[in-house]
Amino acid sequence: MKTIQPIQMVDLKGQYQRLKEEIDAGIAGVIESAAFVRGKVVSEFETAFAEYLNVRHVISTANGTEAIQTALMALDLQAGDEVITPSFTFVSTAEVVALLGLKPVLVDVDADTFCIDPESIRRAITPRTRAIVPVHLFGQHADMEQILDIAQAYHLYVIEDACQSIGSTYTYRQKQYQSGTVGHIGCTSFFPTKNLGCYGDGGAVYTNDARLAERMRSIANHGMAQRYHYERIGINSRLDSMQAAVLKAKLPELADFIARRQAAAALYDELLADIPTIRRPRINPDSTHAYHQYTIRVLNTDRDRMRDALADHGIPSMVYYPVPLHMQQAYQKIGASLHPCPTSELLSQQVLSLPMHTELSKDQIEYIAATIRQYCRQHGG
Ligand SMILES: *Cc1c(COP(=O)(O)O)cnc(C)c1O
Repeated sequence: MKTIQPIQMVDLKGQYQRLKEEIDAGIAGVIESAAFVRGKVVSEFETAFAEYLNVRHVISTANGTEAIQTALMALDLQAGDEVITPSFTFVSTAEVVALLGLKPVLVDVDADTFCIDPESIRRAITPRTRAIVPVHLFGQHADMEQILDIAQAYHLYVIEDACQSIGSTYTYRQKQYQSGTVGHIGCTSFFPTKNLGCYGDGGAVYTNDARLAERMRSIANHGMAQRYHYERIGINSRLDSMQAAVLKAKLPELADFIARRQAAAALYDELLADIPTIRRPRINPDSTHAYHQYTIRVLNTDRDRMRDALADHGIPSMVYYPVPLHMQQAYQKIGASLHPCPTSELLSQQVLSLPMHTELSKDQIEYIAATIRQYCRQHGG
């Protein structure tokens, strides 16, 4: 039997070793400059990222959560205004809505794409609805065409959570868009394990709307227009120079990172194809998939027991996410859980995310798939 390198969910070290020279030079340059905050490299990265996204304005922030917060603050919403966002996702979107005194309205997701379900959005609209925050979960897009139609009909803002989908594209009216650039504002995260990760926390908002861009730039910097002149209440949310230098070194590799993730996913797809208890990821035909996660559904067999069995074979896996937000105490208490979300509840029982990163080898994926196949054969369904 072949020896296989230990398998990790994510391998940041292996990726660093390939790109060490550029990254080290970038970090050394920041230390040399001593411009640790608001250094030149921050605006250089913003410009390069704007070019990558084909978008007019990029404003970097301290993390992805505050990117979403900054975007929502720029909309001038009133206390109690409603913002529709999915229940089956990471907590950030609902959290910042609530923190701003707005009302998160949690709705269900589509069973195939795991992204917010347009029908559930329609059912949740009230006269107080002001915005929709779809999440492009695991790296593919929600049905933006329908979401933009709904937004237009009801005059709503669309703020895209592209924290997991950077590097994927969406085709809208025959034109291809980088993730997060068809709505009013895109938000992303550069958390180390994200598709484009820095070596700490980082994030960005981006838009083609000059008015929203100007507001967000001011909001992320204490609400300042000119130095020490405050035009609105803001926050302190900055990408520091060290992180910008890492991102500037890694950005030219993003297309390759995504290609590696897609190649790993294609191999998983092929090797898991005919296992009746496993449902492979399904893709919205208007979207490409960046495979931030490769997430399967485990049908008719106990997902958690399968997870334990994989761990016994040295295969890590994760459950993103075990409890949908509408079932969480914090969100029930504030009345965010008004709508039934049966698909979110079902998915939380079935999903399993397999190791996915830029350094996975063919041998590793073959071993993972063979182990899953063997488990499923033994445990039926
Ligand atoms: C990671 C993530 C966030 C938050 O980003 P941070 O940089 O960790 O604050 C928000 N939404 C989704 C879907 C994410 O995956």
